[in-house]
Amino acid sequence: MTEFQAGPLSLSFGRKQVLHEVRTEVLRGGTMTALLGPNGSGKSTFLRAVAGVIRANGPIMLDGMNLARMSVQEKARYCAYMPQLLPPPVRMSVVEVVLLSLRLGGNYAGASAAMERVDAVLASLGIMHLADAMMGELSGGQRQMIGLAQALVRSPKLLLLDEPLSALDPRYQFIVMDALKRETVLRNMVTLVVLHDPAVALRQVDSAMMLRTGRVIAAGVVEDIVTPEIMAEAYGVRARIERGSDGAAMVSVEGVV
Ligand code: ADP
Ligand code: MG
Repeated sequence: MTEFQAGPLSLSFGRKQVLHEVRTEVLRGGTMTALLGPNGSGKSTFLRAVAGVIRANGPIMLDGMNLARMSVQEKARYCAYMPQLLPPPVRMSVVEVVLLSLRLGGNYAGASAAMERVDAVLASLGIMHLADAMMGELSGGQRQMIGLAQALVRSPKLLLLDEPLSALDPRYQFIVMDALKRETVLRNMVTLVVLHDPAVALRQVDSAMMLRTGRVIAAGVVEDIVTPEIMAEAYGVRARIERGSDGAAMVSVEGVV
C-alpha cells in the first residue's frame, strides 16, 4: 500500500518565514487530500517544496524513499506536479506536449503504448477533441486541462496539483474532480490538491489540511476540517454548512467575522 508523508518542512524567503514546520499526516494510496487556506497562507510554497521546485529542510517520504534526496529525473518517475501557472501557449500540438510529459516521466514503454495512454487520459478528461489542436490556439481553461493531462498521463504514485480548477467552467470543474477521484483510486495514487474553494473540497476529497500564515491549523477527514469554527479561524468568515436533499454538503458564506 502506497504511503506518503511530507515534513515537517520549514522555509523562509529572505527574512520572512513562510512555512513553519508544515507536515502532512500519513496519506495512503487511493485517497485525495485538499490543501486549503486563505491567500498567501503558504499552500503553493508547500506544494512546490514537496515537488522539489524549491528546497525546504525536511523529509518527503514516499514508500520508504526520501524524495528530497532524489535527482530530478529519478523523482519524475514517482511524482508529477502541476503548478498554479497555466502551461504556456507553445508551438506544439496537445498530443505532442502530453507525450513529452509521459516521456519525461521515464515510464515510457514504446510509441504505441504511449499513444494509447495519451488517448486514454484525453478521453477520461473529455478533451479528445483537442488532441490535434495547437497549444497556442487554446483558451486558458483548455490549457489548464492539458496541464492536468500532462500530470495524469504519467500515472505517478504522488500527484501534486496547485489549483487545477482555477480557470475551468463549472462543467469541466466537475469532469476534472471526477476524473481525479477515478484515477486516484484506479492507480492507487496519493493525490494532494490545492483547492481555492473549501466547498469543493468538502464534496470531493477524503481529507484536508488547513493552512494559515504558514502553519497547519487543522488536518484530518474533510468533514472535520471544513467546519464553521475552522472556516472562521482560517478565512475570517461566518460560514454555514448544510446538507442538500441529496446529502451533498454545501457551504454558504454569510459574512466576515
Ligand atoms: P498561497 O498559495 O497559499 O496563496 P503562497 O505559498 O504563494 O501562498 O505564498 C505564501 C507567502 O510566501 C506569501 O506571503 C507570499 O508573498 C510569499 N512568497 C511566495 N513566493 C515567494 C517568493 N518567491 N519570494 C518571496 N516571497 C514569496
Ligand atoms: Mg497559491
